[in-house]
Amino acid sequence: MAGQATYDVVIVGAGFSGLYMLHRLKRLGVSARVYEAGPSVGGTWFWNRYPGARVDIESQEYSYSFSPELDDEWVWSERYATQPELLRYLNHVADRFDLRGDIQLETRVTASAWDEDARRWTVTIDGGETISARWCVMATGCLSVPKGDEFPGEREFRGPSWHTSRWPEDGVDFTGMTVAVIGTGSSAIQAIPVIAAQARHVTVFQRTPNFSVPAHNGPVAADVAADWAANRAAYRAQAREAGFGIRAVAMDDTPALEATPEQRKAAFEARWTYGGFALLGAYNDLVLDRAANQTAVDFMADKIRGIVNDPATAEKLIPRTYPIGAKRLCVDTGYYATFNRPNVSLVDIADEPIEGITPAGVKTSAGEYAVDAIVYAIGFDAMTGALSKIDIRGRGGRRLTEAWSAGPRTYLGLMTAGFPNLFLVTGPGSPSVLCNMAVAIEQHVEWISDCIAWMGERQMGAIEASEPAQDAWVDHVNEVANGTVYPQADSWYMGANVPGKPRVFMPYIGGFPVYRDKCAEVAANGYEGFHVG
Ligand code: FAD
Ligand code: NAP
Repeated sequence: MAGQATYDVVIVGAGFSGLYMLHRLKRLGVSARVYEAGPSVGGTWFWNRYPGARVDIESQEYSYSFSPELDDEWVWSERYATQPELLRYLNHVADRFDLRGDIQLETRVTASAWDEDARRWTVTIDGGETISARWCVMATGCLSVPKGDEFPGEREFRGPSWHTSRWPEDGVDFTGMTVAVIGTGSSAIQAIPVIAAQARHVTVFQRTPNFSVPAHNGPVAADVAADWAANRAAYRAQAREAGFGIRAVAMDDTPALEATPEQRKAAFEARWTYGGFALLGAYNDLVLDRAANQTAVDFMADKIRGIVNDPATAEKLIPRTYPIGAKRLCVDTGYYATFNRPNVSLVDIADEPIEGITPAGVKTSAGEYAVDAIVYAIGFDAMTGALSKIDIRGRGGRRLTEAWSAGPRTYLGLMTAGFPNLFLVTGPGSPSVLCNMAVAIEQHVEWISDCIAWMGERQMGAIEASEPAQDAWVDHVNEVANGTVYPQADSWYMGANVPGKPRVFMPYIGGFPVYRDKCAEVAANGYEGFHVG
């Protein structure tokens, strides 16, 4: 088509994944263009600007590792960086590696169709312009499509309301306001203490209580920074050998039930004192065995009872219906203690379901809660949401949404049968959200760019996951998940948070090192399980 832009690779999304993908491809000398719907690079760390937003993995670990120079020049100010600091970091990366010239912002990719004859993708952006590319990399994010329109009457509410993932750039001043916060996931748990410190009153609407552990955040101590500077390469390597891609979680290799109650209490206490996800590494069977898991649940229940003064509120805050870890563990700063404030109240919507939003506020089966503002912290259409929003058509015009109608099917979370030359960064079937995403993203981006280079060296036009390899991988992903406690929760990992979404455990829980080795072996064997032509 005359005037049609042509690239070797189109990358969709300019978050952590898209930026590194572009950098790798530029170094290969491959022409690539990034299309990003938002007005800035940064992805998650641009969109999620709610009060209190920060990383839940220590920043020394949740950052790119591919450039020692970048590591040396960037100094993290806090143990767990805030959203503004992470956004500054990703902007710095875009500048430092000269990426901006190849990124088109405020441009949404609406469709992508495989042209069998040309063996290329035709990518459509909003406005209708089309682009031709040999390869298409979906760096669209696992948590980039916020849920919305969940409650009847939302549009009738007369005050302001925001989803945590679509927060005003100038922030919100809650001074003097009464505020409803709906949801108690990681976003809410970070936001509620900060909003409560400012607002006149906060009413928290909780459907399912969550487990939350303290971050013990603070400035990075000089000795910690110096230790990291001296040992960074070794520490990064240790993270890549850890199941969750997090060095700080260091798994103890003993089962919980072999320890005495006193030993368990001491082990959990030590990890609670360290903070963050470390708790889940106290024993090697916490996420495998429900009885072992219950020992950590009981520890958490005691902690909540110890922090929250009002016994009835404490009991409501204790999760009872699912194992700890089976939903993403939350990492907080003062969450449970916030319920001791006189200006914070908890409504258990398991007891009194939300019937809708009225012009005045939130209406439950027990009555109306009039508020000045509403914060929806209700999460995302995770892992498949951003991909389903793009009209992706593979061989024979088959839609991705049709191929995935019973749940996503991929080979290694990287490619899907019937969709040649379409790569997914941290797609379903890869460790992705069960891993330090920085580690998972770097491994995927490097595998994809190596594959593109390999194909180029051999003048190969197309690569596609084979159906048998994909079927075997999907079976393996399910088998591994079913050997853990993860499928026992109604989590977004299972698609359970979106009405009508197929119930499938989407990420791969076999551990990052196992997965990385499998990907490397497949590549070393000439892309075993893929059709290469
Ligand atoms: P994203 O950062 O989501 O970027 C995807 C980009 O693609 C977005 O900017 C989006 O606008 C764009 N896009 C999507 N569809 C289209 C389209 N059709 N056209 C054009 N552009 C499109 N992970 C951790 O490991 N540790 C954490 O502490 C952590 N904290 C998080 C906190 C929050 C609030 C959230 C929501 C997620 C968090 N995550 C965390 C997961 C986080 O998403 C990843 O760590 C990482 O930032 C993902 O990067 P990404 O580039 O793959 O995706
Ligand atoms: P989330 O974990 O899915 O939590 C959403 C909350 O809203 C849950 O409490 C959910 O209840 C509730 N909810 C959803 N729909 C509802 C409805 N219709 N009615 C009533 N309640 C409803 O979403 P999130 O908090 O935005 O976090 C998503 C993920 O992003 C996290 O798991 C994490 O991976 C990442 N994240 C990380 C951080 C961090 O600490 N760095 C911060 C934010 C997000 P149910 O539990 O009953 O579904």
